[in-house]
Amino acid sequence: MRITMLGTGAAFVDPDRAQSGILITLDNGRHYLFDCGAGITRNMVRANVSPADVSAVFLTHLHHDHVCDFPLFVITGWMWEREDAPVVIGPKGTGHFVRNLFEGGAFKADFDARSAYPRRQKNLAAVRPRVIEVAPGLAYEDAHVRMTCDWVEHIPREISECFGVRFEAEGKVVAFSGDTAPCAAMERLAAGADLLIHECTFPESFIEHRRKTGVGTFAHTSPTELGRLAARAGVKRLLPTHFGHFDSTHALIKRVATHHFPVEQMGPHLMDEMVRDIRKHYAGPLQLAADLLRVDL
Ligand SMILES: [Zn+2]
Ligand SMILES: [Zn+2]
Repeated sequence: MRITMLGTGAAFVDPDRAQSGILITLDNGRHYLFDCGAGITRNMVRANVSPADVSAVFLTHLHHDHVCDFPLFVITGWMWEREDAPVVIGPKGTGHFVRNLFEGGAFKADFDARSAYPRRQKNLAAVRPRVIEVAPGLAYEDAHVRMTCDWVEHIPREISECFGVRFEAEGKVVAFSGDTAPCAAMERLAAGADLLIHECTFPESFIEHRRKTGVGTFAHTSPTELGRLAARAGVKRLLPTHFGHFDSTHALIKRVATHHFPVEQMGPHLMDEMVRDIRKHYAGPLQLAADLLRVDL
């Protein structure tokens, strides 16, 4: 299988990173998408994969940086002649989110205009996805893959459940954290994984700054914590992602980050700090995510 990192940023619009999105492609050509943040549909096309060819989409949680591109992804598949919609797997609320987008929803005008064409009437099923709202345990299974999931610790569960996922196919295991603080559930999902793709939103120095200034309320995993978790889970390879724009050199990103970070310290050199802190506990193969990075397993 191959893994393509479609988006590796977080909640800001970042000139250098799309928001969260990971594509797993099996050797038989089937595609499975994890998260659908802004910019990932364009990056999918840059990676030469058609949104019309993706079988299933797993949304880890309903924060905008994980779902913003979902309407674009689905409408593109419809325009590009897919016959059936992808299966959509996600937390409670995913059905509500999907049902209120297309027919009669936020994109009603687009739907009404486009569906007036006979050719688009032929594949209306493409904008009527089947939604599976998951609970911890088996999330999805077909003839090729098996996905299990569990709650991770990110947003209060009554606002949005947040899931981590363990994906098994071709005798390999890929685990993906979604967004989370370090937690036992994610460690279990990642146990012995061939690849762990785990969020690592801020370097330690920025977490300390955010703690002191009281910025940011939702839980993430620090580099030191991630190294410890990866070592304890015995993962064979680690791919940190969901970087919170701390490495940006863009003037606008620095300006809007003023209330979030010590902006004078921002820049790509912080990736060195991140690796050093992950390495305190984890000695295995390590690669930091970048948009369109490809990993073959
Ligand atoms: Zn996020
Ligand atoms: Zn989030």
